[in-house]
Amino acid sequence: MNFFVTGGSRGIGAGIVLAAVRAGHDVAFAYRSNDEAARKIEAEAAALRPGAKCKGYALDVSRAERVAEVADEVLNDFDSVEVVVNCAGINRANLVVSMSDEEWHDVIATNLHGPFYVVRAFLSQMLAARFGRIVNISSIQHNGAAGQANYAASKAGLHGFTQSLAKEYGRKGITANVVVPGFFDTDMTRETMPQAAKDYWQQYCPMPKGRMGTLDELAAVVLFLAEGGSFINGQVVPVTGGLDWTY
Ligand code: NDP
Repeated sequence: MNFFVTGGSRGIGAGIVLAAVRAGHDVAFAYRSNDEAARKIEAEAAALRPGAKCKGYALDVSRAERVAEVADEVLNDFDSVEVVVNCAGINRANLVVSMSDEEWHDVIATNLHGPFYVVRAFLSQMLAARFGRIVNISSIQHNGAAGQANYAASKAGLHGFTQSLAKEYGRKGITANVVVPGFFDTDMTRETMPQAAKDYWQQYCPMPKGRMGTLDELAAVVLFLAEGGSFINGQVVPVTGGLDWTY
């Protein structure tokens, strides 16, 4: 199958790109601007499976016109896309009382508008093929967390969006599901997760030494939904090590 993964140059998205390549799929991925990281993932994919097609496209998913342009480019390069994974996301923590318009809008634009633009851009092609797998990456913070009103709202919105997609397109052979990651060691958690939250996770996550998840553990669930989850639709799948909590 051919995958399109947003946020594929780093962190969780890069883990999904490489796992899909390893499993024999071809992968187009989007990243915002970090060309160096994108070229590194392309090179890792080529080393993993020589002959694999894996190409990164610079794309700000919050820009509708650019998403449509890149979707056309991807379909031109890959002929078809069967699996769309919306993983691009940002976090701008602040208390509501001091949150700027920009902090609110940037997060909603990337984390919620982005998946809508991306899915819309690939839907016609999936409908024509009467097949598609959509996996949207949420967060355990979708239930709300102090300092995360913008982020939590964007992720809770993603759940409603996904469950609506499942109902609109399930009959056409297209499934849509949400994956809810717990905590994973990526640039995002390194840069934005407060030490107190890391300590709490370590103390209460019912995993050996309260560890975070690995990128492969998250990617395995996305691959399962893409490859084998044909009767799973409109679901919210936690990959949290058992700690369904928000700090
Ligand atoms: P990282 O910050 O490590 O990587 C973010 C990726 O998204 C990069 O590839 C980045 O591109 C891309 N990106 C950011 N903004 C845009 C944009 N506007 N358009 C296109 N691409 C963009 O994040 P993580 O891997 O940690 O997180 C991935 C997803 O998982 C996010 O949706 C996040 O909310 C979610 N998540 C992560 C958790 C964790 O523990 N890490 C926990 C729960 C949820 P570039 O390299 O060019 O900047």
